[in-house]
Amino acid sequence: MVIIGGGPGGYESALVAAQLGAEVTVIDRDGVGGAAVLTDCVPSKALIATADFLSRFESAGRLGVGFEGTDDDQHAEANLVQVNSRIMDLAAAQSRDIQAQLESVGVRVVRGTGRITGAHEVTADLVDGGTRTFTADTILVSTGTSPRVLDTAVPDGERILTWQQIYDLKALPEHLIVVGSGVTGAELAHAYLGLGCEVTLVSSRDRVLPGEDADAATVIENVFRRRGMKVLNRSRAQAARREGDGVVVTLEDGREVHGSHALFAVGSIPRTKDMGLEEAGVELTPSGHIVVDRVSRTSAQSIYAAGDCTGVLPLASVAAMQGRIAVAHALGDAVAPLNLRGVCANIFTDPEIATVGYSQTDVEEGRVEAQVVTLPLSTNPRAKMRNIRDGFVKLFARPGSNTVIGGVVVAPQASELIYSIGLAVQNQLTVDQLASTFSVYPSMTGSIAEAARRLHPLEV
Ligand SMILES: Cc1cc2nc3c(=O)[nH]c(=O)nc-3n(C[C@H](O)[C@H](O)[C@H](O)COP(=O)(O)OP(=O)(O)OC[C@H]3O[C@@H](n4cnc5c(N)ncnc54)[C@H](O)[C@@H]3O)c2cc1C
Repeated sequence: MVIIGGGPGGYESALVAAQLGAEVTVIDRDGVGGAAVLTDCVPSKALIATADFLSRFESAGRLGVGFEGTDDDQHAEANLVQVNSRIMDLAAAQSRDIQAQLESVGVRVVRGTGRITGAHEVTADLVDGGTRTFTADTILVSTGTSPRVLDTAVPDGERILTWQQIYDLKALPEHLIVVGSGVTGAELAHAYLGLGCEVTLVSSRDRVLPGEDADAATVIENVFRRRGMKVLNRSRAQAARREGDGVVVTLEDGREVHGSHALFAVGSIPRTKDMGLEEAGVELTPSGHIVVDRVSRTSAQSIYAAGDCTGVLPLASVAAMQGRIAVAHALGDAVAPLNLRGVCANIFTDPEIATVGYSQTDVEEGRVEAQVVTLPLSTNPRAKMRNIRDGFVKLFARPGSNTVIGGVVVAPQASELIYSIGLAVQNQLTVDQLASTFSVYPSMTGSIAEAARRLHPLEV
């Protein structure tokens, strides 16, 4: 098996394929771990960890904590050079760990750019020079995506930035304009706000996080504004230019937003160009994503694809699952097709938004019938102790069977809390089964059990 791209879609597949006895080669251009480890997921979450840590100082007073011997304006501060160097070090260490793990199970890792040159052939332009051709029974493409760049706002890596360039900054931006209020834009806007920057978030839609649960997005937008972020809704950015020591972002209606730096988070494009895919019979969508079925097959028999380049659901966990499924299918192992209803996803703002299964939009647009309960965290005793003011638990249950079919948690570390709802969704547990599972008292999970209890079907 030859795998092109060593991100979660690629390296997780390689591990499983080696375990199943295949001879595996991974060809990767930028370092195993992929964008997930080196520029996107891991670095952004590490940056957010620092921002969260700083935010905790802000609320110390409300928990009765003072700082001895300090004057009034004393505050914690991030040293961005140290923060960024820690992040890059831990990303590199993670990539090295993955490389070692791959090599320990006998996977051959090749540094280079791969392209398909036949139904069973991949040619790599090696980083060290020269080319090399590999033959394979099965090829897996997991080349990921790159940040979308507007012709009118070309990143310069200094003031106009993509999310992959922010870790080179030597000092905190004085005023960061974040363009795009999807998950990446919202997470990074909030992170820099927590690090102490003035932040303006430019959102083309009515509210931030347009693809997410509307109640959750409203909580987050209110938190953003309360903490001092300027959120410009219904404001589509058209261009950005450098001016003196700063940047000017022009909006479609002619308004101008002035700041010191601009970060564009306006989507991604698949890395599928010039890879010999169409010549090999692989169907692409108009956006350039690879068309796959639920077992990761493309339209070419020997070629599979996994991860963001398929456009199925851009999450590291989904990329890895698609890759594992591809390997199992190709090597004749037991296969369960990809089930997106069981995917737990999280937005790492503060509070976090975690979701699984059917959503409020699915219910409102008639894709599923569901009973819904929303429980604010303000009544949870543990939340009170921890001074948590924002957040809720929402559960969806199927009428009749009373099985849990979805949930939303808005809370600090919602990413840890969603697992119990994920278990219920994946295993079709009933609301009563969830409600009768002991939770610790006092705990945030108590609200999940309580929400399930409120969905207990009443006798009629
Ligand atoms: C800012 C940000 C934060 C995110 N945070 C999270 C998160 O918290 N949780 C989560 O689940 N997901 C997160 N994601 C999404 C996650 O990063 C992606 O879903 C994941 O990286 C997809 O994995 P992949 O294997 O498809 O591609 P990638 O991780 O992009 O890896 C692809 C690899 O292929 C290599 N490559 C490309 N073309 C070639 C070629 N021709 N030859 C050889 N190698 C090639 C690249 O160099 C790269 O190493 C985040 C995304 C962004 C942008």
